[in-house]
Amino acid sequence: MNTSDLARHFTEIIRATGEDPEREGLIKTPERAAKAIEFFTQGYRQELSEIVNGALFASDIDEMVIVRDIEFYSLCEHHLLPFFGRAQVAYIPNGRVLGLSKIARIVDMYARRLQIQEQLTKNVAEAIQSVTDARGVAVQVNASHMCMMMRGVSKQNSEMSTSVMLGAFRKSESTRNEFLQLIR
Ligand SMILES: [Zn+2]
Repeated sequence: MNTSDLARHFTEIIRATGEDPEREGLIKTPERAAKAIEFFTQGYRQELSEIVNGALFASDIDEMVIVRDIEFYSLCEHHLLPFFGRAQVAYIPNGRVLGLSKIARIVDMYARRLQIQEQLTKNVAEAIQSVTDARGVAVQVNASHMCMMMRGVSKQNSEMSTSVMLGAFRKSESTRNEFLQLIR
């Protein structure tokens, strides 16, 4: 990623809106915007293995582990506008548990890319499945999308909800219901 390259493009975007990129308030905007975009997409420069970094611990726990209300901020790949909300993540260990902070970091890694909510939900579920080899993983995401809230048909209060269920959560209705009860 090249900050000055990004900044140069932001200068052109500002010019194309009809603004003067040389005026005082905008002089440093391209560079600030470039740095912001770099941060919003830093997930492309991270890898699952380095995020997990050995924080997998042997355990005989076989009850559902649930992490609630993981706040995230992402960018929709259709409009490059933010969508943001909370993720609920659960898994049923199969001999190994994952450090709790790692689950939030996995959500962040996939959120800080150009995304659609459905894909983000799936990315997180599959990542947790692959690192823990869990008996099941459930991820539920609620988010508000600026591309719905700010443009055309303003729908300020609509939230989108997505979920992905793997393994035991997919196969067993009672496991799935337990999860849905716990996150309510
Ligand atoms: Zn969008």
